[in-house]
Amino acid sequence: MKVLVTGGAGYIGSVVCERLREEGHDATVLDDLSQGHREAVPVGTELLETDLRDRRALRASLSGRSFDVVMHFAASSLVGESMKDPGRYFENNVSAGINLLEESRRIGADRFVFSSTAATYGEPERSPITEDFPTIPTNPYGESKLMFERILDWYVRVRDLRYVALRYFNAAGASGTCGEDHDPETHLIPLVLKAAADGGKVHVFGDDYPTPDGTCVRDYIHVLDLADAHLKAMEAMDRGVGGAFNLGNGAGFSVTEVISAAEDVTGRRIRKARAPRRPGDPPTLVASSARAEEALGWKPCREDLPTILESAWRWHREHPRGYGG
Ligand code: UDP
Repeated sequence: MKVLVTGGAGYIGSVVCERLREEGHDATVLDDLSQGHREAVPVGTELLETDLRDRRALRASLSGRSFDVVMHFAASSLVGESMKDPGRYFENNVSAGINLLEESRRIGADRFVFSSTAATYGEPERSPITEDFPTIPTNPYGESKLMFERILDWYVRVRDLRYVALRYFNAAGASGTCGEDHDPETHLIPLVLKAAADGGKVHVFGDDYPTPDGTCVRDYIHVLDLADAHLKAMEAMDRGVGGAFNLGNGAGFSVTEVISAAEDVTGRRIRKARAPRRPGDPPTLVASSARAEEALGWKPCREDLPTILESAWRWHREHPRGYGG
């Protein structure tokens, strides 16, 4: 299939491009490289360097092209940043998405796979989280993703669009060639591995949450497992499958547990420092992915934390300064 991958120079998008190519699909990346890396785009994959907020530029980039499916990864995706700069989140994740929807329609692309998030649920009272839980986001990031899901729902009703929204829990790990490289890096696992490598400290954001050890619990899912879900979602839309699906392993690990597992994997001691809670962080987010398993035929197969950490550690050692290094 011909697939347009927005944000295909980013962390998850680049791994999905790699997998699409391996499976014989034809991927084209659209990315403004504001956060992505040219080096992350697989060799031989065309890169359209375009800002989705610029409707005219987007139309020009897509003109004369056709795609069967759009996979929409391009977004701002940091909880903490969204609490400081909500406008950026609504502009990049909602307005720019509407541009993409409208321009995709002009060129006849009527199937969407959308990168959504566990942050759409807010602070659920029970665990694991299923898709029928209330969606009450506690930060503008989650709200912006939920808004776009609802917009997609309306396009299904009014415009014959088909879509699957994949609500990622915590993407982690690396493929053989693509890994996590954000600037600035704010995610726990790359920061923990950096601390293992350079002897710096990891700040533990809050140790008084209502969790077994007081630190936040998250469901870490291997980026290659996430990538497989996108390929399955693309096929499933042909069978009439649509809507939102959680993607996680169903197992939660606290910040402290991640640090100690990383000490085992790297064989190094990792220094920790207590730090205040990060605004907008829910205590626990753990997925039930039963719906994805049933409707998409997807099941994670790299689910244990050491396997995820080992792949990330390997990538970190091969790219100590990220894609630039
Ligand atoms: N976290 C932390 N120290 C850091 C970065 C993250 O304690 O330097 C915590 C964060 O508060 C959250 C968890 O680790 O509870 C995962 O954070 P991350 O930013 O990786 O992903 P998020 O859950 O925000 O999508």
